[in-house]
Amino acid sequence: MTRKEYSEFLVPNVEYDVTYYENKYPARTLEDGAMVTRFAPSPTGFVHMGSLYASFIDLQMAKQSKGIAYIRIEDTDQKREVENGIEGIIKDFNNLGISFNEGPSYGGEYGPYIQSERGDIYRAYVRKLIEEDFAYPCFCTPEDLDEQRHIQELEKERIGYYGTWAKCRSLSMDEVIEKINNGEKYIIRLKSPGSFNNKVVLHDLIKGNIEMPENDIDIVILKSDNLPTYHLAHAVDDHLMHTTHVIRGDEWVASWPIHEQLFKVLNFELPNYAHIAPITIKEGNTIRKISKRKDPEAAVSYYHKLGIPTEVIRLYLATINNSTFEAWYLQNPDKTIDDFIFEFDKCPIGGSLFDIQKLISISKVYFSALKASKVYEGALEYTKEYDSEFNELLAKYKEYSINILNIEKEVARPRKDISAYSDVRKYTWYMFDELYFNEAKFELDKEYNLELLKDYFENYFDESDSKDDWFNKIKELAPKYNYASETKAYKQEPEKYVGHIGDVCEAIRVAVTSLKATPDLYEILKYLGKERALKRIEFFEECNK
Ligand code: GLU
Repeated sequence: MTRKEYSEFLVPNVEYDVTYYENKYPARTLEDGAMVTRFAPSPTGFVHMGSLYASFIDLQMAKQSKGIAYIRIEDTDQKREVENGIEGIIKDFNNLGISFNEGPSYGGEYGPYIQSERGDIYRAYVRKLIEEDFAYPCFCTPEDLDEQRHIQELEKERIGYYGTWAKCRSLSMDEVIEKINNGEKYIIRLKSPGSFNNKVVLHDLIKGNIEMPENDIDIVILKSDNLPTYHLAHAVDDHLMHTTHVIRGDEWVASWPIHEQLFKVLNFELPNYAHIAPITIKEGNTIRKISKRKDPEAAVSYYHKLGIPTEVIRLYLATINNSTFEAWYLQNPDKTIDDFIFEFDKCPIGGSLFDIQKLISISKVYFSALKASKVYEGALEYTKEYDSEFNELLAKYKEYSINILNIEKEVARPRKDISAYSDVRKYTWYMFDELYFNEAKFELDKEYNLELLKDYFENYFDESDSKDDWFNKIKELAPKYNYASETKAYKQEPEKYVGHIGDVCEAIRVAVTSLKATPDLYEILKYLGKERALKRIEFFEECNK
């Protein structure tokens, strides 16, 4: 049997050889310096902050270099597979309004972009490795391997399948053929040409140079389910898809010597690597990686439900990702994230603590700068999915809603109360009669002068007044009920008055909104108008009898 026949015998039913694939996926034609990056999630069903962070860097780096960012689903570990795992990820990205240049739902010339659909491709390369004596079949059972590990532990030897511990490495072709003819099961391992005493250096774009021992482990490359391991799939896919920059979690640094070796034996050009530090969370006194299971705020769907815009999450990720971003953004309020040039060497080397308060404060600043009409559009979209009652009101009173959202907005220090679309109702509900008369509750800690309130709305208030006129009228009204029209006068002789002008305003505010704190009262009254305000005074009286 020639080595070629031997490889075909060990890995049967492979339609094409590697030359076919090398021709099928030619080099990409892109500008010099264009980066090809990939986001490579396992199909866990949803996108979480950690993976979103990785995808953010993939996308920004590709975009700013006029390159390509694609998504590849890594589902060769079928034990980790969840139902609808791929759809869940795609849905999360769609909800976020984030798209890639290529991928399962986008198409592209370098697919399929789902690893389980690429089995034949991997097997063609495994055949090549066998033919060139860089791979061999291994018949060891999990029990054999456990026993070996146990012995290695006892003898204080390095754990793993390497050197003389790699029992099946020395099997002759005839021995192998005989075992297979006897029905023995096997997997395929790399025949590592490395030595543990040699050093290899990873030139990581984020972490700098990292020296490690060369790989000498005969790692599994093709599993018993006929699918490759991550290591082989990484090498084959990133080669054929022409990835220039592998951006991935730093838990992969330790396996890099394996990858470097695989690229070498497969005769592939090594891509650049950027290993990113995880997003972490503080739990008591310990700091751990953010977890999909333990941290609900890790799932991006959490933010979708709250109505925190994708742009805010991107701003937060940009802030984590580059130490100079936040200052730049504050100095350039007219620019967007896409105007900023990200650099690998500005990425954090150690983990970044996830800080939801920071995210919320970024969101408040974002909303405060957003035009009222945009807040309105976003809220309309959000409530369509999460709050049909409020959605109807927003749709019915479009202009009115925009006016309300514009209160204290286009001013030097705009209001910063809204941090999510779910907050819009929370901060405006009382302006809608449909909600107000159902939901208003008065928890009064003092009595308000009803006569004054009625007098004010019946005889003084006019919604077309200028702000000055409006205020002067309140000043005129105040002394009639023994309130000081200047706070200063009240402070000098408090015993002479029942209160001051601020108390009058408070009474008006509480009586028509049920709240002690609202944005500008003049504007609120202007939009409510006399007729509706009077109805609210009646309601106030009714509720507080
Ligand atoms: N599928 C791998 C993971 O989810 C991706 C690592 C990589 O980007 O290469 O950890």
